[in-house]
Formats: sequence, C-alpha cells, structure tokens
Amino acid sequence: MKSKLPNVGTTIFSVMSSLAAEHNAYNLSQGFPNFPIDERLLNIFKEQASLNVHQYAPMAGLPKLRQEISLKVKEHYSVEVHESDVLITAGATQAIFATIQALVHPGEEVIILDPSYDCYESPVILSNAKAVRIPLTEDFLPDWERIRSSVNKNTRLIITNNPHNPSGRIWTMDDFRELQALLNDFPNLYVLSDEVYEFITFEKKHISAHQIEGLKDRTIIVSSFGKTFHITGWKIGYLVAPPVLMKEIQKVHQFLVFCVNSHAQATLAAYLPEKNLEELGPFYQEKRDFFQSLLRKSRFQLLPSEGSYFQVASFDQISNESDVDFAIKMTKEIGVASIPLSVFNADGTDRKLIRFCFAKDNETLRKAAERLCSI
Ligand code: PMP
Ligand code: GLN
Repeated sequence: MKSKLPNVGTTIFSVMSSLAAEHNAYNLSQGFPNFPIDERLLNIFKEQASLNVHQYAPMAGLPKLRQEISLKVKEHYSVEVHESDVLITAGATQAIFATIQALVHPGEEVIILDPSYDCYESPVILSNAKAVRIPLTEDFLPDWERIRSSVNKNTRLIITNNPHNPSGRIWTMDDFRELQALLNDFPNLYVLSDEVYEFITFEKKHISAHQIEGLKDRTIIVSSFGKTFHITGWKIGYLVAPPVLMKEIQKVHQFLVFCVNSHAQATLAAYLPEKNLEELGPFYQEKRDFFQSLLRKSRFQLLPSEGSYFQVASFDQISNESDVDFAIKMTKEIGVASIPLSVFNADGTDRKLIRFCFAKDNETLRKAAERLCSI
C-alpha cells in the first residue's frame, strides 16, 4: 500500500508513555495531569448524564457553550467575539486539522516553527501543500529575519504556538509587531495560532492573538479544554475564526466529526461560567517551582519555563548520547520518562535537551526528582 504519510510513525508521546508503563517508570513524558479533576466538574458531569444530553449536538457546538466561550474571551482579552465565530472541536488537534484542510490549497506553503508540536505537518502534507519548517532561535523564540525570508506570495499559513510546547517560552509584544508587519506585506497570509496553554503562564502574562489589532481578521485561534480543565481524555476544544474563514472550516468540520461529544459540551457549558481561570497559572507555577527546586541538586540544567506545563532540561553535563537514546535509557534504567526534543525538529537537531511534564501530583514529582538527582 502506498502511504500518503510515508515519513510518519507512531508519535513520540505514545512511544514514551508505553515505555514508561512497560518499565514502571514515573511518566513525565506525555503531557497530561495525573491528579483528579475538580470535584465540581465531576458532579456537573454526573448531573448532566441524567439529562437529555445524549443525542447529536448542533454541528458547530452547543449555543450555550459557544456563548460562554465568547464571554470568557471578552473577560480575559477585552475583545468582542460573536458566538458564531466560535466552533467547538474534538480537541485542538481536530481544530488544527480542519483549519489546514479547509484553507490550504495544493502547492501552497505553510510555515511551521521548529521545534514544533507534532500535529501540524501531516495535515499540510495531506493537503498536497508544502510544510516549510523554520527553526526558532536558540532561546525558542521566532527568528523573524528567517521567517520573513521564507514567506512568499504562495505562503498561505503561518502556524504559531504560544505558550510554546515543548519549550515553555512565551511571545513578547515585539513578536506580535513583527507578525503584524508580515501580514501587512503578505495579504494572502493567515495565522493559525495554537494557544492551548493560554491560561498557563507564570511571571509574564499571556498575550493572545485576540488582542492584536489587525491580526483578528486574519487569524484562527485554537484552544483546548484538555489543558485548561485537566481533562485531556475528553478531547474537546475550540477555535475562533472570522466569518469568511469559519465558513470554509465548518465545511471540513462537518465531515470530519459533524459535531463533538454532547455530554462533554453540556458539562462544560455549565462549568465554564463558574470557573475562575486566573487560578490556573499560579496553580502550575507552584508545581513548576517545586519541581525546579527539587532538581536544583541534580546535574540537569533547567531552561526557562514561562508557560505551559513543561520544563526543558539540558543533560549536556551527564551524557553525550543522542537525546532519544538518553530518554529511552533513563526510562528503562532510572525509571523516569521524558520527551527528547530532537523529534520536534524537521532536521532532527539534537541539542541534548529533554522535556519533563510537571502536571503531576507532588508525590510523583518528588519521587521522580529523587531519581533524576541520582544520575
Ligand atoms: N497543540 C499543542 C501545542 C499541544 O501541546 C497539544 C496537546 N498537548 C495540542 C495542540 C492538542 O490538544 P488536544 O489534546 O486538545 O487535541
Ligand atoms: N500534547 C501532549 C504533549 O505534548 C501529547 C498529546 C498526545 O499524546 N497526542 O505531551
């Protein structure tokens, strides 16, 4: 069988999570919380189960949930988003897939900034378009000179990810000014802004594409309830897009899933207005600080983590193995699983960096850190 995606294998997240399970290792690889969800959310979920929520939801999502999302956007970013500009999706992954399939034509180009999350490139290839993978700077911030020199009139989309997975870096206002200038120069260019960690930032506040003048009409903003409410397995998220783009994205969405899990939608529509999302940053900041303090005695060097629930560490002073070999060996022999960063780079660049997920209960973090300090 001729493959449409010949270079795609099983994702590193599945590989490392299975390896962790096989070797009974602490799993700080795949990004998901291991602590219970909010009891209130669980109670609403149970209550909703006994109501009439079990048939197809409207194609674009429950009106109440779309409305609550537009209210949250207004509350956090002081911008008006009409509920018809909101589409409920089966996680950010489906939002990204539907967007790329809907907007990118054969032969067009899409800019992806490396190290990049793994679900961006395949939908570009499936659109018979070209993924142009451009490295971020050493500090994991956009290299605007390089980006600018790679954009041409055939470039349809630039995919941005802020706060950034895997590095945990966040964009500054200067980055947005550069992006604005690029859009001014290239009228056919659109932005797919992956903001799934929008509520997980620490010392600095997240700047959303929602807030930037001139970006709103040219941007599809993607978020995920998986990250915000510790429910990655529910696979529910949303995108916000201007009407002309939304019309095309919905054409794909309706044949990809038609609509998203109705029980999850009804639960979140009731829960969202109750929840203060400002609590999420400090909650994860405490975990980051705890994890960092535990690792201070180790030989790992910790890079800045400004947002997301990831901590990147250099093992340069511990081993000169490849990052993949090192991560596998550490899972098997030390009993702590992580993600090697080279797999997020098109050219496999290996800077001896691994990513730990600190969305774990303190006991797990403590025990994993004890082992990490032993090498
Ligand atoms: N984008 C980024 C940057 C992510 O880290 C993830 C998942 N962890 C996703 C998209 C996909 O989110 P979802 O699970 O809601 O599909
Ligand atoms: N986004 C999660 C991470 O970065 C993984 C999600 C997945 O397994 N597909 O670890």
